[in-house]
Amino acid sequence: MSTNPHHRRNHPEDIESAPRIRAAETLFSRANQFIAAVWNASDVGMCMTPGCSECGALEFRRALATLDGLSPDAPLTTPIALLPEAPGPLAVALATVDFGLLRLTPRWYDALDIALFYVRDHGELRFVLDEWVRRDAVPTRVLDLVLFRHVRYGFPDARLADLWIDVCLDAAASTGDECLVESLILTCPERVGADPRAFRAAMEAANHSACVRAIVGRLGECA
Ligand SMILES: [Zn+2]
Repeated sequence: MSTNPHHRRNHPEDIESAPRIRAAETLFSRANQFIAAVWNASDVGMCMTPGCSECGALEFRRALATLDGLSPDAPLTTPIALLPEAPGPLAVALATVDFGLLRLTPRWYDALDIALFYVRDHGELRFVLDEWVRRDAVPTRVLDLVLFRHVRYGFPDARLADLWIDVCLDAAASTGDECLVESLILTCPERVGADPRAFRAAMEAANHSACVRAIVGRLGECA
Protein backbone atom coordinates (compact mmCIF):
# COMPACT_ATOMS: atom_id res chain seq x y z
CA MET A 1 0.00 0.00 0.00
CA SER A 2 1.58 3.22 -1.08
CA THR A 3 1.65 6.29 1.09
CA ASN A 4 1.49 8.25 -2.14
CA PRO A 5 -2.21 9.09 -2.77
CA HIS A 6 -1.77 9.14 -6.55
CA HIS A 7 -0.22 5.73 -6.41
CA ARG A 8 -3.32 4.44 -4.60
CA ARG A 9 -5.89 6.10 -6.82
CA ASN A 10 -4.69 4.78 -10.15
CA HIS A 11 -5.07 1.11 -9.46
CA PRO A 12 -7.14 -0.59 -12.18
CA GLU A 13 -9.30 -2.38 -9.60
CA ASP A 14 -10.52 1.02 -8.41
CA ILE A 15 -12.09 1.78 -11.75
CA GLU A 16 -15.72 0.77 -11.59
CA SER A 17 -18.23 0.57 -14.36
CA ALA A 18 -21.81 1.12 -13.27
CA PRO A 19 -23.55 -1.44 -15.54
CA ARG A 20 -21.21 -4.23 -14.43
CA ILE A 21 -21.88 -3.39 -10.77
CA ARG A 22 -25.65 -3.37 -11.19
CA ALA A 23 -25.56 -6.69 -13.03
CA ALA A 24 -23.76 -8.23 -10.10
CA GLU A 25 -26.16 -6.95 -7.50
CA THR A 26 -27.90 -10.22 -6.90
CA LEU A 27 -29.62 -11.76 -3.92
CA PHE A 28 -26.59 -13.98 -3.60
CA SER A 29 -24.19 -11.08 -3.16
CA ARG A 30 -26.51 -9.60 -0.55
CA ALA A 31 -26.53 -12.82 1.45
CA ASN A 32 -23.32 -11.71 3.15
CA GLN A 33 -24.27 -9.08 5.71
CA PHE A 34 -21.16 -6.99 5.14
CA ILE A 35 -21.61 -6.91 1.37
CA ALA A 36 -25.28 -6.03 1.89
CA ALA A 37 -24.26 -3.16 4.18
CA VAL A 38 -21.83 -1.81 1.59
CA TRP A 39 -24.45 -1.97 -1.17
CA ASN A 40 -26.96 -0.25 1.07
CA ALA A 41 -24.49 2.45 2.12
CA SER A 42 -23.76 3.10 -1.51
CA ASP A 43 -27.46 3.18 -2.44
CA VAL A 44 -28.26 5.84 0.16
CA GLY A 45 -25.06 7.80 -0.44
CA MET A 46 -23.31 7.26 2.89
CA CYS A 47 -19.76 8.55 3.23
CA MET A 48 -17.31 5.63 3.23
CA THR A 49 -14.08 7.60 3.34
CA PRO A 50 -11.78 6.19 6.02
CA GLY A 51 -10.92 8.93 8.52
CA CYS A 52 -13.17 11.47 6.73
CA SER A 53 -12.35 14.82 8.31
CA GLU A 54 -15.96 16.01 7.98
CA CYS A 55 -18.02 13.08 9.27
CA GLY A 56 -15.59 10.32 10.26
CA ALA A 57 -17.76 8.02 8.11
CA LEU A 58 -19.94 7.95 11.21
CA GLU A 59 -23.15 6.86 9.51
CA PHE A 60 -21.45 3.88 7.84
CA ARG A 61 -19.68 2.92 11.06
CA ARG A 62 -23.03 3.13 12.84
CA ALA A 63 -24.53 0.85 10.17
CA LEU A 64 -21.73 -1.66 10.79
CA ALA A 65 -22.39 -1.48 14.54
CA THR A 66 -26.10 -2.11 13.96
CA LEU A 67 -25.26 -5.11 11.77
CA ASP A 68 -23.03 -6.25 14.63
CA GLY A 69 -25.97 -6.16 17.05
CA LEU A 70 -25.13 -2.94 18.92
CA SER A 71 -28.01 -0.77 20.04
CA PRO A 72 -28.37 2.55 18.16
CA ASP A 73 -27.21 4.61 21.14
CA ALA A 74 -24.23 2.43 22.09
CA PRO A 75 -20.92 4.28 21.79
CA LEU A 76 -18.89 3.23 18.75
CA THR A 77 -15.52 3.39 20.44
CA THR A 78 -15.91 1.64 23.79
CA PRO A 79 -12.60 0.15 24.84
CA ILE A 80 -12.92 -3.59 25.29
CA ALA A 81 -11.95 -5.05 28.63
CA LEU A 82 -11.74 -8.68 27.55
CA LEU A 83 -11.11 -10.23 24.15
CA PRO A 84 -14.30 -11.92 22.97
CA GLU A 85 -14.17 -15.70 22.70
CA ALA A 86 -16.41 -15.87 19.66
CA PRO A 87 -16.71 -13.53 16.67
CA GLY A 88 -19.71 -11.23 16.39
CA PRO A 89 -21.89 -10.92 13.27
CA LEU A 90 -19.65 -8.42 11.46
CA ALA A 91 -16.48 -10.44 12.08
CA VAL A 92 -18.29 -13.58 10.85
CA ALA A 93 -19.48 -11.76 7.71
CA LEU A 94 -15.94 -10.53 7.00
CA ALA A 95 -14.35 -13.89 7.74
CA THR A 96 -16.67 -15.62 5.27
CA VAL A 97 -16.83 -12.90 2.61
CA ASP A 98 -16.41 -13.87 -1.03
CA PHE A 99 -13.76 -11.45 -2.29
CA GLY A 100 -14.99 -11.81 -5.86
CA LEU A 101 -18.44 -10.55 -4.87
CA LEU A 102 -17.05 -7.96 -2.50
CA ARG A 103 -14.93 -6.44 -5.26
CA LEU A 104 -18.06 -5.81 -7.32
CA THR A 105 -19.48 -3.49 -4.65
CA PRO A 106 -18.92 0.27 -4.94
CA ARG A 107 -16.10 1.63 -2.73
CA TRP A 108 -15.38 -1.89 -1.45
CA TYR A 109 -11.79 -1.08 -0.55
CA ASP A 110 -12.63 1.91 1.65
CA ALA A 111 -15.56 0.05 3.18
CA LEU A 112 -13.30 -2.86 4.04
CA ASP A 113 -10.71 -0.50 5.49
CA ILE A 114 -13.32 0.97 7.87
CA ALA A 115 -14.76 -2.44 8.77
CA LEU A 116 -11.36 -3.92 9.61
CA PHE A 117 -10.69 -1.09 12.04
CA TYR A 118 -14.12 -1.70 13.58
CA VAL A 119 -13.42 -5.39 14.24
CA ARG A 120 -9.90 -4.59 15.46
CA ASP A 121 -11.35 -2.11 17.97
CA HIS A 122 -13.63 -4.91 19.18
CA GLY A 123 -10.81 -7.43 19.54
CA GLU A 124 -12.12 -9.49 16.60
CA LEU A 125 -9.56 -8.92 13.87
CA ARG A 126 -7.86 -12.21 14.77
CA PHE A 127 -11.05 -14.17 13.92
CA VAL A 128 -11.16 -12.62 10.46
CA LEU A 129 -7.47 -12.98 9.62
CA ASP A 130 -7.36 -16.51 10.99
CA GLU A 131 -9.86 -17.45 8.24
CA TRP A 132 -8.35 -15.32 5.47
CA VAL A 133 -4.80 -16.50 6.00
CA ARG A 134 -5.88 -20.08 5.31
CA ARG A 135 -7.59 -19.30 2.01
CA ASP A 136 -6.10 -20.38 -1.30
CA ALA A 137 -6.25 -16.86 -2.65
CA VAL A 138 -6.63 -13.43 -1.09
CA PRO A 139 -6.61 -10.45 -3.48
CA THR A 140 -3.29 -8.61 -3.50
CA ARG A 141 -4.96 -5.36 -2.50
CA VAL A 142 -6.50 -7.02 0.57
CA LEU A 143 -3.15 -8.56 1.52
CA ASP A 144 -1.60 -5.13 1.21
CA LEU A 145 -4.35 -3.30 3.11
CA VAL A 146 -4.12 -5.65 6.11
CA LEU A 147 -0.32 -5.60 6.01
CA PHE A 148 -0.07 -1.83 5.86
CA ARG A 149 -2.80 -0.93 8.34
CA HIS A 150 -2.58 -3.72 10.92
CA VAL A 151 0.13 -6.38 10.59
CA ARG A 152 2.81 -3.72 10.28
CA TYR A 153 1.98 -2.63 13.84
CA GLY A 154 1.78 -6.17 15.19
CA PHE A 155 -2.03 -6.58 14.98
CA PRO A 156 -3.87 -8.76 15.66
CA ASP A 157 -1.10 -10.83 17.29
CA ALA A 158 2.45 -12.02 16.60
CA ARG A 159 1.45 -15.44 15.25
CA LEU A 160 -1.05 -14.10 12.70
CA ALA A 161 1.20 -11.20 11.75
CA ASP A 162 3.93 -13.70 10.94
CA LEU A 163 1.62 -15.92 8.89
CA TRP A 164 0.25 -12.89 7.04
CA ILE A 165 3.75 -11.75 6.11
CA ASP A 166 4.49 -15.27 4.76
CA VAL A 167 1.47 -15.04 2.45
CA CYS A 168 2.45 -11.51 1.38
CA LEU A 169 6.03 -12.58 0.58
CA ASP A 170 4.66 -15.38 -1.63
CA ALA A 171 2.25 -13.01 -3.36
CA ALA A 172 4.91 -10.35 -3.88
CA ALA A 173 7.24 -12.93 -5.41
CA SER A 174 4.62 -14.25 -7.80
CA THR A 175 2.89 -10.98 -8.77
CA GLY A 176 5.70 -8.45 -8.36
CA ASP A 177 3.01 -6.01 -7.16
CA GLU A 178 4.81 -2.75 -6.45
CA CYS A 179 2.47 -1.54 -3.70
CA LEU A 180 2.74 -4.84 -1.85
CA VAL A 181 6.53 -4.87 -2.25
CA GLU A 182 6.66 -1.34 -0.86
CA SER A 183 4.55 -2.28 2.17
CA LEU A 184 6.68 -5.36 2.81
CA ILE A 185 9.90 -3.35 2.77
CA LEU A 186 8.36 -0.84 5.21
CA THR A 187 7.07 -3.65 7.46
CA CYS A 188 9.88 -6.21 7.54
CA PRO A 189 12.92 -5.40 5.39
CA GLU A 190 14.84 -8.29 6.98
CA ARG A 191 12.22 -10.82 5.85
CA VAL A 192 12.25 -9.48 2.27
CA GLY A 193 16.04 -9.50 2.25
CA ALA A 194 16.13 -13.10 3.49
CA ASP A 195 13.61 -14.41 0.93
CA PRO A 196 15.37 -14.78 -2.47
CA ARG A 197 12.16 -14.65 -4.54
CA ALA A 198 10.74 -11.65 -2.67
CA PHE A 199 14.12 -9.94 -2.80
CA ARG A 200 14.20 -10.40 -6.57
CA ALA A 201 10.67 -8.98 -6.83
CA ALA A 202 11.76 -5.97 -4.76
CA MET A 203 14.72 -5.30 -7.06
CA GLU A 204 12.49 -5.63 -10.10
CA ALA A 205 9.86 -3.29 -8.56
CA ALA A 206 12.57 -0.75 -7.78
CA ASN A 207 13.32 -0.56 -11.52
CA HIS A 208 9.78 0.63 -12.22
CA SER A 209 8.68 2.44 -9.08
CA ALA A 210 10.27 5.54 -7.57
CA CYS A 211 8.47 4.79 -4.27
CA VAL A 212 10.12 1.37 -4.04
CA ARG A 213 13.46 2.76 -5.22
CA ALA A 214 13.39 5.31 -2.39
CA ILE A 215 13.23 2.61 0.30
CA VAL A 216 14.91 -0.40 -1.30
CA GLY A 217 18.18 0.53 0.42
CA ARG A 218 16.59 -0.59 3.71
CA LEU A 219 16.91 -4.20 2.56
CA GLY A 220 20.64 -3.94 3.16
CA GLU A 221 20.17 -2.77 6.74
CA CYS A 222 19.31 -6.14 8.19
CA ALA A 223 20.82 -8.48 5.61
ZN1 LIG B 1 -17.47 11.97 5.41
